Amino acid sequence: KTIGQQLSETAARFGARDALISRHQGLRLSYQQLLEQSQQLASALLRAGIAKGDRVGIWSHNNVEWVLLQLATAHVGIILVNINPAYRTSELAYALNKVQCKALFVMERFKTSDYLGMVRALAPELETQGSDALQIEALPDLRLVVWIDVAGQGQEQPGMQRFSRFIASGDAADPQVAQIGATLTPYDPINIQFTSGTTGFPKGATLTHRNIVNNGYFIGEAMRLTEEDRLCIPVPLYHCFGMVLGNMACMTHGAAMVYPNDGFDALTVLETVQAERCTGLHGVPTMFIAELDHPRFAEFDLSSLRTGIMAGSPCPIEVMKRVVSQMHLSQITIAYGMTETSPVSCQSSTDTPLDKRVSTVGKVHPHLEVKIVSAETGETVAPGQSGELCTRGYSVMHGYWGDEAKTREAIDADGWMHTGDLATMDAEGYVNIVGRIKDMVIRGGENIYPREIEEFLYTHPQVQDVQVVGVPDNRFGEELCAWVIVKAGQSLDAEALRSYCKGRVAHYKVPRYIEFVKAFPMTVTGKIQKFKIREAMIESLK
Ligand code: ATP
Ligand code: MG
Repeated sequence: KTIGQQLSETAARFGARDALISRHQGLRLSYQQLLEQSQQLASALLRAGIAKGDRVGIWSHNNVEWVLLQLATAHVGIILVNINPAYRTSELAYALNKVQCKALFVMERFKTSDYLGMVRALAPELETQGSDALQIEALPDLRLVVWIDVAGQGQEQPGMQRFSRFIASGDAADPQVAQIGATLTPYDPINIQFTSGTTGFPKGATLTHRNIVNNGYFIGEAMRLTEEDRLCIPVPLYHCFGMVLGNMACMTHGAAMVYPNDGFDALTVLETVQAERCTGLHGVPTMFIAELDHPRFAEFDLSSLRTGIMAGSPCPIEVMKRVVSQMHLSQITIAYGMTETSPVSCQSSTDTPLDKRVSTVGKVHPHLEVKIVSAETGETVAPGQSGELCTRGYSVMHGYWGDEAKTREAIDADGWMHTGDLATMDAEGYVNIVGRIKDMVIRGGENIYPREIEEFLYTHPQVQDVQVVGVPDNRFGEELCAWVIVKAGQSLDAEALRSYCKGRVAHYKVPRYIEFVKAFPMTVTGKIQKFKIREAMIESLK
């Protein structure tokens, strides 16, 4: 199926039901409205000279316009390019030029960041050119800039078109949209998604309708989503977590997508769940921790919650237990995946036994294969042994955009995507993610998985969050270093934490360095960039 076919089917079955609720914009759309408005936007794009196969960038936090553009581009085979809202001008120019974007949709501002100002800085020609045929030196392929006026009261912008006016130039019944839609196949690329940049520079994965629609469908199945569900999505749409685990899982099941805010804010999430009677909630572990530990947490009625997904990075068992017991998320699941596999390849389901659901990423998704191979031999390892997780099947990306060599490095001749993640699988098929190969610490010949120590330190009652990395050491090769965030209003020192470790974990797993910090370096998806912690430690140890 193409995304357009999927949306038409959902609208035919659940047309009058809520599709999308954007709290910070005060907007609500039914599935019928979502279908019509996205077709109208598709028509506007065609009339503006953007054609099937062209790339269109979106540089924005979560809002209705984002989803409309996701669907509009899919209706007519235009390739949507998700651009990280944390980017600044040089990265924006890099991303747009790398994939030759013909159009850019951009939000007006976010907090103190002036996005339109950044676009102007790159493209001063906007001041003097008509908005319908741009020629910009720094962005040679760009022809059109559309700005998203979330508040509905921004001033006119020379050289740019206002979203509300732009969409009005299209026609929901434009026969061109249907004609082009009929020529599309599920194998056509529709999206270039950038990876999180957790381990370095983000890579652009090219994904097809088939990749995304199927993955969204099976994610929703594992959560048992129906049209009665209302899923709170505080994770960014820019990333596959929001776009596929959120939007596509809902769209394939007629469930409502609820956006609490444009950026993440724990309090707004709690308010939204209560006000909209959400049945589901997504988040990376750091988001759930921020919600659970919010000083006003106890004021909110979260009893409507049932399910959701924790994913994106190792999900501490303690955090899983807390969301089950304190947030009513008795049917929460953990998903594991990566942008390059659309993204999910393993997921627990609502009927996975609770002990497995909090401690593993579940089993392989239907119609996909997963194997765990030894780094030395490349052979599949025995149950319980750790090795690199590889994925094969419909979900594997088309490739990295414009990078044959990198694609071949990641996907082998037999179609296996090598994830770079270390995992184990037990005899029943439950998969446990041990950590990234790059993050494994080798201290005096012992392999140490930071994840294991993080899980342990997390059980200390004063610890709110913790990260463990390896830093170079002359004597042992590497030494362990822990960065700890202490719970608000509590105190803890390194000695106390060390003595907590004594007798509970092997001596070589007790971190040599313990630092107390207020926050971790993070990607916009809320993932912790261990490489930055490592760099900072190396610098401070000099
Ligand atoms: P980059 O590839 O740019 O360094 P990234 O790998 O974080 O960034 P994503 O594609 O967003 O980019 O994330 C996929 C990675 O996230 C996986 O390879 C894995 O390391 C981690 N991950 C995802 N889900 C889980 C999970 N449930 N448990 C542990 N790790 C997870
Ligand atoms: Mg990655």
